Amino acid sequence: MSDDIGPSRHKARPVRQTDHALAEPDNFVRVRGAREHNLKNVDVDIPRNALAVFTGVSGKSSLAFGTLYAEAQRRYFESVAPYARRLIDQVGVPEVDSIEGLPPAVALQQQRGAPNARSTVGSVTTLSSLVRMLYSRAGTYPARQPMLYAEDFSPNTVEGACPECHGLGRIYDVTERSMVPDDSLTIRERAVAAWLPAWHGQNLRDILVTLGYDVDTPWRDLPKKVLSPVLSHA
Ligand SMILES: [Zn+2]
Repeated sequence: MSDDIGPSRHKARPVRQTDHALAEPDNFVRVRGAREHNLKNVDVDIPRNALAVFTGVSGKSSLAFGTLYAEAQRRYFESVAPYARRLIDQVGVPEVDSIEGLPPAVALQQQRGAPNARSTVGSVTTLSSLVRMLYSRAGTYPARQPMLYAEDFSPNTVEGACPECHGLGRIYDVTERSMVPDDSLTIRERAVAAWLPAWHGQNLRDILVTLGYDVDTPWRDLPKKVLSPVLSHA
């Protein structure tokens, strides 16, 4: 592309898709007459299957997001049922005469907020909402399974989240090892590390004594059937 984004000799003309639709596809995205925001009737050929970089004082995002991505999304939207369009934030129709050779596009916006535990490549790129829609519209359903909506495939909704990990993909849970880091200790010696040393822990130990538990045998030598009721109150 030319390194200054300025007026071109290109004049607006009716878009004739058929010329190129029949021709061999070449390896360029060809933009003609881009006028989004401050773009001044820009013509540019961007190589495909390559890393292309837009530099300059202004007009970079107008070309990348406001024109290329907006047009890719607009074309995608035309293939989507109206009820499903609410699931996607629409960028708007770009001011451009024509764009040829445009593949489906994904936009990673500038200045993203800090990612949270639910951020994934899919959510950051919004690819997951497209995949969810694909599943809900084009998937095959098991017998007696009613139709699922796109939201039902999201780990961030009550309907779609895994009931075990609530959609986080990770379960934070205590184990015997984390509760009893040193199993050579007896209960009286505070084998259960989570118990507070003061009154509360003392109280729990007294209860175990009253219930007939052995608080003077090392934890690892206590019968297994004793351990789980102790820990379930830890
Ligand atoms: Zn899970």
